[in-house]
Amino acid sequence: MDLPKTSKAMVLTEFKKPLELLDIPVPELGPGDMLVKVDLASVCGTDVHLARDELSMHPPTPIIMGHETVGEIFYLPDSVKTDVTGVPVKVGDRIMWSHLFDGECYSCKVLHEPVMCEHSRGYGFSPAKELRGGYAEYEVVLSGTDFIRVPDEITSEEAVGACCAGRTVVNAFDRLFACGGIHQGDSVVVTGVGPVGLFAIVMAAQSGAAKIIATDISPTRLEFSKKWGATDVVNSADFKDSAERVKYIRDLCGGRGADVVIECSGSLAVFAENLDLLAYYGKYLIVGQTSESDIPVVPNKIQRKGAVVIGSHSGDIRHYIKCLKFIQANKGKYPFGEIISKKYKLADANQALEDMRAGTALKAALVNK
Ligand SMILES: [Zn+2]
Ligand SMILES: [Zn+2]
Repeated sequence: MDLPKTSKAMVLTEFKKPLELLDIPVPELGPGDMLVKVDLASVCGTDVHLARDELSMHPPTPIIMGHETVGEIFYLPDSVKTDVTGVPVKVGDRIMWSHLFDGECYSCKVLHEPVMCEHSRGYGFSPAKELRGGYAEYEVVLSGTDFIRVPDEITSEEAVGACCAGRTVVNAFDRLFACGGIHQGDSVVVTGVGPVGLFAIVMAAQSGAAKIIATDISPTRLEFSKKWGATDVVNSADFKDSAERVKYIRDLCGGRGADVVIECSGSLAVFAENLDLLAYYGKYLIVGQTSESDIPVVPNKIQRKGAVVIGSHSGDIRHYIKCLKFIQANKGKYPFGEIISKKYKLADANQALEDMRAGTALKAALVNK
């Protein structure tokens, strides 16, 4: 098969500068490497921060961003016959893939937590010449990368949510359930209803919670969260101060606070306030915090309540698989595809980033057709 010589890509040549549309030479593929044609690449909140160098990591530029990609297999080496679940794959099939983990370090071998891999090679964060980001026509999927075939009955718009927000929440819920989870009739508060918050809401709704209270400052997002299972929505901006807001939310939980609070907003102030929402023996799951800044908290609020605090980060291929199954099983019930609020041509990626930053797009996606 003839491989393309070059691939168009929107390249982050320098932090804080607009992306540039460039022709990137398709690198020589190693044994076992695949080439995919990007079908749909969604824009993550992380990309918005990465482009401005606001993350705790600072990968060297130029970078092709995009770690939430559904791609069609364009070149399939003879050595690759199936996805990680054993489903046969062929050219033209749609797949999604995790970051590349070495499988050999302490985190991979001993902890069995590849997300913490000491030598992980991320997609969407690597040098542009490697062509391993979704903001492009083509993307290289390196040998050894765990990937899964997207079932035909799931659209790319529905599936792409599993590539980042969905798999992150599946992993976080695995950790939450290892600490007791959500019981039937529980009150759950989800702070921040971007894509991660939406998946937290829908998975809480399917876990037997009686109350799922969504908080945000965007009326549009709050309204949308009802379609994903929120029973109550609270606009955080409607209160004169924190004490009034905390009382209102605790009252929604029968006056005793929330059994589970899931922080998906990324706001430090929200992170701190959430400790006041917890009921006795409540569980506090933190998924949305990416900044390196700090905020004072009173440790006694955790101790006195017997609270459990759980952090969770990203996900590995297990969580992609489970998220896709969850989407497939519940697609008639929740509008998973509507997580993509607007589509853009590849060349309009700067506009997509801008709309994400301004909050006018819940999730932007780049299309390649
Ligand atoms: Zn993401
Ligand atoms: Zn490793």
